[in-house]
Amino acid sequence: MRILYLVIPCYNEMEVLPKTSGIFQQKIKELIEKNIISKESKILFVNDGSKDDTWNVIKTLVHKDPIFIGISLSRNRGHQNALLAGLMEAKKYCDITISLDCDGQDDIQAIDKMLEEYENGSDVVYGVRSDRKSDSFFKRHTAQVYYRILRRLGGDIVYNHADYRLISSKVLNELENFKEVNLFLRGLIPLVGFRSSCVYYERKQRIAGKTHYSLHHMFALACEGITSLSIRPLQLITRLGILIATISFIGVIWSIASYFSHRTVSGWTSMTCIVCLVSGVQLIGMGVIGEYIGKMYMETKHRPRYIISERTSVDQVEEQMDETK
Ligand code: UDP
Ligand code: MG
Repeated sequence: MRILYLVIPCYNEMEVLPKTSGIFQQKIKELIEKNIISKESKILFVNDGSKDDTWNVIKTLVHKDPIFIGISLSRNRGHQNALLAGLMEAKKYCDITISLDCDGQDDIQAIDKMLEEYENGSDVVYGVRSDRKSDSFFKRHTAQVYYRILRRLGGDIVYNHADYRLISSKVLNELENFKEVNLFLRGLIPLVGFRSSCVYYERKQRIAGKTHYSLHHMFALACEGITSLSIRPLQLITRLGILIATISFIGVIWSIASYFSHRTVSGWTSMTCIVCLVSGVQLIGMGVIGEYIGKMYMETKHRPRYIISERTSVDQVEEQMDETK
């Protein structure tokens, strides 16, 4: 029978974990009882360098029920890296992973449908939001525009899918060969290939705590998506350069003609406009190129994407609990 690992990244989630851990636990037990998954299935929490008591909450859960296990990263590495750390850890022991948020937003009941799709031959099953009712007006609309832009730039991503997905360990073994440090998993998984399908679910509100994706983080992730999946912005700069150069060339001919007809002073405004426009476009162009060069610099360092500083195993946690008594 298949061993399933739920992989759940957690950052400063001490408030929500005691509430949602029971929901995960109940679901896995139910699936084990129905003989859908193996008894060795687990819920793996990844503590992403939390500053609050999250790691202790995880250790207490592990102590109470060995269905839970945990790993802790040496520092906060961000959602994508934490998720990757969990997936790479899980794939050593299981056949299937399902990644989800620890805040109860991803509907746990969709797991049944994901497992069915897996049995029907899909190695990747994307959890797709059937609507964006739980999002703010701003997030809903910016997300839509973003997906369109990314598709146009050549990024093959599933519309309205975040990081709630089933991945088989077969696919994870291949994902391991993608060594990039600038991680955008929802764009990478389609690149790995294999048969995939979608399962639709309604995304709920957070049970407790608050989102870690501020406007700034959302923007950073959006840029990450574009620059890690597409080099088309660089090509667009070249095209824009050609366009501006053509306009400038016309401008030069016009100003020379003005010179010979002794009307040079009146051309001052238009010249200023052109200079400002061209230098502005150049700066934007340099910025975009710089963004890619920066990424290349980070990639050439081959730094580890995460470092696991602690792992829970039941024995280990029991020892630690005895010591504190
Ligand atoms: N998360 C993480 N590291 C971070 C930020 C977030 O592991 O640096 C986790 C977080 O605990 C949650 C998931 O990633 O389980 C998604 O974050 P959040 O719910 O804040 O994002 P949202 O659902 O609002 O987009
Ligand atoms: Mg969330």
